[in-house]
Amino acid sequence: MASRTPRVVIIGAGVSGIASAITLQRNGFHDFVILEKGSDVGGVWHWNRYPGLTCDVPSQLYQFGFAPKPDWSHVFAPGAEIQEYLTGVAERFGLRPHLRLNSEVVAAEFTGSGWRVRTAGGQVHEADFVIAATGVLHHPAWPEIPGLDEFTGDVVHTARWDDALATRGRRIAVLGTGSTGVQVVSALQPVAERITHFVRSPQWVIWAPMWLPQPAVVGAVLNRLPKLNQALYQAGMTGAKLFTDVVTRPSWRRRAVQEYARFSLRAQVLDGELREQLTPDYEPLCKRQVLSGSYYRALKARNAELVTTAIEAVTPTGIRTADGREHEVDLIVLATGFRAHDYMRPMKLTGRDGMSIDEAWAKGPRAYRMTAIPGFPNLFTVLGPNSPTGSIPLHHAAEVTAKYITAWIKRWSAGEFDTVEVTEAATDRFEAEVTEALGPTVWNTGCNSWYFTEGGSIDLLPFDRRTMETMLAAPDDRDFHLRATVPGEP
Ligand code: NAP
Repeated sequence: MASRTPRVVIIGAGVSGIASAITLQRNGFHDFVILEKGSDVGGVWHWNRYPGLTCDVPSQLYQFGFAPKPDWSHVFAPGAEIQEYLTGVAERFGLRPHLRLNSEVVAAEFTGSGWRVRTAGGQVHEADFVIAATGVLHHPAWPEIPGLDEFTGDVVHTARWDDALATRGRRIAVLGTGSTGVQVVSALQPVAERITHFVRSPQWVIWAPMWLPQPAVVGAVLNRLPKLNQALYQAGMTGAKLFTDVVTRPSWRRRAVQEYARFSLRAQVLDGELREQLTPDYEPLCKRQVLSGSYYRALKARNAELVTTAIEAVTPTGIRTADGREHEVDLIVLATGFRAHDYMRPMKLTGRDGMSIDEAWAKGPRAYRMTAIPGFPNLFTVLGPNSPTGSIPLHHAAEVTAKYITAWIKRWSAGEFDTVEVTEAATDRFEAEVTEALGPTVWNTGCNSWYFTEGGSIDLLPFDRRTMETMLAAPDDRDFHLRATVPGEP
């Protein structure tokens, strides 16, 4: 059969959507659209613009292998610079004509041979393949606190920050103490009249110089010497392997990092009472590790207060805690995280035989090798269930997955099949391997975090980069049903 041109719909224009689009292009596939709910590309880096937003992954690793940026301003780049990088990549690789911004996908249904995808604006796209690059940290989690709706001041979730919001000279409450809460407290403390950090469960905060500039000469040299830059990227990837090892296997290396986390607290917080309040009751690294060189200093400032007493209610003018104390505030900042396991939902995704994604995932999200879902032929996820959000550089994981998906699309193009669907058995086997490997990980040492699904499983990849690359190196036909829509063809 002659080669066919696949029509592909990519949902989401964040890191994984961009990686997917460029991988398709580089393999000669140009008939694709990227449907993006937001008003620009960037995913989390488009939606998040709260004060203090900085990436705590070294920038030289927080980039695509095919689009190196040697000249970051800082070792840990600020959010706005990352967003600029992503929009720049989209421009440079000619993605704009493929982009449909402000196009939220509300439904996608399998037609028997492909997909029909509908947007909130009423557009319908027919596709042979759908790539769900819808992200993990996308849906803000709004806490259910009595009275929150009646608060007369301002309330904002960090993932929907309003640039017009006044912060200077105000009494600010911050709820939540993950990476976001720690960054936002550090950034707002110097401008607030008073800042109160409400902490339900303290986090270990490892000291790191997040403000460290990258000397301009480094960028200039690396720009001139791409081979050296590539070698540096590879060295960074090798270094990242150490981190994977620390989180996935108990060893003296893990214990050393954990000791450093404890030391970071001991050395910076000398006040015994405050230190006790800030000491978590679980092992360092169990939750997504927080890095900061400024948080403890901010908390010790005269205008700052840490409150660990449970919140009872929000009143029209502040927050009441369980000890009966009223904390008067003007602005409530919700750094309360995300519904990380919703993935493409609430989209109405309907697969083979009318099966909905909610039915398929009734016991929690699952996908074979992070990308293929039984019952959903010709649909793949990038950074889907069990992605290595806690262990391997994400751009790389997205690229590797996009190449894997493209390998399937190439075979479709060559006429080898019309539909490809992963088997239940292969998905069960992958889940069992993951479950076993999660046993010795640090994420499984007794804490509650956004890594856990409602069903109680850990939604992460407990393997190292090489294992991930090997499992996505090439499609394995034994794990899939390959079908022709018209019997006897192709
Ligand atoms: P998070 O880690 O899920 O933290 C949410 C915080 O909100 C927790 O402290 C949680 O307390 C608290 N919380 C939730 N509901 C609450 C309620 N009803 N009352 C009181 N407290 C409540 O969310 P995040 O800080 O936004 O971070 C999510 C992830 O985004 C990070 O782990 C990281 O992967 C990523 N991120 C990365 C960077 C970066 O620099 N690269 C920056 C920001 C975020 P409990 O622990 O008690 O549940």
